[in-house]
Amino acid sequence: MYHHIKKLMYTVNVGTPDPRFGNMLLEQFGGANGELAAAMQYSVQGLNCEDPDRKDLLMDIGTEELSHLEVVGTLARMHLKPLRHKNGNAAADDPLIAIAGGGGVSLFNSMGDAWTADYLKITGELDVDLRSNIAAEARAKIVYERLLNHCDDPGSKDALQFLMTREITHMKAFTLALESLGKNPFSIGKIPPTPGLVNQYFDDSTGVGDQGEQNARGPWNQGGDWEIVESPALAQGVENFESSHGKGAEGESRATTRNRKTA
Ligand code: MN
Ligand code: MN
Repeated sequence: MYHHIKKLMYTVNVGTPDPRFGNMLLEQFGGANGELAAAMQYSVQGLNCEDPDRKDLLMDIGTEELSHLEVVGTLARMHLKPLRHKNGNAAADDPLIAIAGGGGVSLFNSMGDAWTADYLKITGELDVDLRSNIAAEARAKIVYERLLNHCDDPGSKDALQFLMTREITHMKAFTLALESLGKNPFSIGKIPPTPGLVNQYFDDSTGVGDQGEQNARGPWNQGGDWEIVESPALAQGVENFESSHGKGAEGESRATTRNRKTA
């Protein structure tokens, strides 16, 4: 059950309205990583959640995101105010907002693309959804940071700092909720991955680039259980070449390097 209280979650003040900045703010209103997407993603995940404790978390944060939507929508509307008056240029610069939208906010992103439920990541698998939410909060945080970097108005910056901070708070809560499930971080679902293959790192990008880019080694491909498979596609190309020139064994020409490694 929802109830609306006629008060913003955070007070919004704008000194000088800047319609271009108002347009940028729509990224967090009707954009892919915006507040409506966050509110809908967490609330619908919560609706599907059978773990009562994490369901409470999803509903708490999903509801807070609706309050953020109201704050960022109010902020955007204040910046778009000049587009509501018949003063020519501003409206000509942005007909979607000025003419189609009457100078108000609608569910579009900063490029005028309509909001879509395709933005939402809802899998019905709690740990997978929590990972999506951690990533969504990280994206929301960086978008707010970029908006802050493009803003000089102290009142707007103050509200954006609040919204940006809350995304880190949410990221922390989702991360700890995921960890508290006590699952092996590389165990997703119930069907185990294929042994051996799961630890093969395919070194598919090799050589030295014009900017000095090189083949890198790190904990993501060496040490522990890792087995590096050098240039598997190149090896397969050589194999195909040799077999088409009669050097390969009969009947083996279609076996790929990858398949043979796991056989
Ligand atoms: Mn938010
Ligand atoms: Mn959030």
